[in-house]
Amino acid sequence: MPTNGKACGECAFWSKAQSFDARRFSKKPKIKNVISKNILNADLHCHSIVSDGTLTPEALAERAKLNGVELWALTDHDEVGGQHRAAAAAKAQGMRYLTGVEISVTFAGETVHIVGLGFDPDDAVLKQGLHDTRGGRRERAMEMSDGLAKVGIQGAYEGALKFVGNPELISRTHFARFLVESGVCKETADVFRKYLTEGKPGFVPHRWATLQNAVTWITQAQGVAVIAHPARYKFTPNEEYALFTEFKNHGGRAVEVVTGSHTAQEYIKYAETAREFGLAASRGSDFHSPVESHTDLGTLPFLPGQLTPVWELLEDRIQ
Ligand code: AMP
Ligand code: MN
Ligand code: MN
Ligand code: MN
Repeated sequence: MPTNGKACGECAFWSKAQSFDARRFSKKPKIKNVISKNILNADLHCHSIVSDGTLTPEALAERAKLNGVELWALTDHDEVGGQHRAAAAAKAQGMRYLTGVEISVTFAGETVHIVGLGFDPDDAVLKQGLHDTRGGRRERAMEMSDGLAKVGIQGAYEGALKFVGNPELISRTHFARFLVESGVCKETADVFRKYLTEGKPGFVPHRWATLQNAVTWITQAQGVAVIAHPARYKFTPNEEYALFTEFKNHGGRAVEVVTGSHTAQEYIKYAETAREFGLAASRGSDFHSPVESHTDLGTLPFLPGQLTPVWELLEDRIQ
């Protein structure tokens, strides 16, 4: 222990600093309560072979657990056929689970995705609504194939079918995989850019569910409706405002803030939007495939503090 005056001054400094630290420390549990609800490795958005992912629900559960996911939801497009398998697989991995789905909606001429979480997967109204939403995918796929044939790509419908796990759920993703396999493009993102988006040869406009229907199907089945990846839509500020306002009016309660589809700037923007509209916030990778997806399960940053995490609204729905 130093004994000269200078050192004693240092001692005084440190004892002051420590008592300041101790005061701060005594407040820590309070701070922790504010933040800890957001510090959860929840991944509430991903896809299996039941829609346009490449892994089974069981393989996804295993991967999620390996990546440290603590609360998981499988959210296949327009389909809840994988929910019982996913819940059982999560249980086998010792991971908490919320039921999930991602519903295709047409709003202001654009396709919008609404995620549902924590609903009853056997609810008859929800299942019928999803069945109706899936209807028409086959005809759309055949028209997409005709469009591609016109630019010299033959047999795309049959080719895409080889990648389909669920015959009712042929999607643009399956076409993209076929075009990569047949060497037309190097990766699926290129296929979307060159062939499968508005104005391109394989694009076919389609009418999905209405916003009101999707939100109502989810909420009447005891779930929470969430606007998926809002930065992905090409809306004007007025249209986006209308989306959030109408979504709330129909009973929607949350928005994805931290998703594999958003940049760090967009986390900030939609954290602000969540607060403005009084919506809870969700977090999900939107993982589809180990080869194609940039964001793996459970690897996103935590939700920003001061937002209500969507799992807080669903405490009694967690399995
Ligand atoms: P569909 O429901 O048939 O219109 O297909 C939509 C799916 O295509 C989305 O869920 C994504 O998985 C995928 N997708 C959409 N846009 C892109 C893109 N630009 N690059 C890669 N995949 C995309
Ligand atoms: Mn998809
Ligand atoms: Mn989506
Ligand atoms: Mn998705």
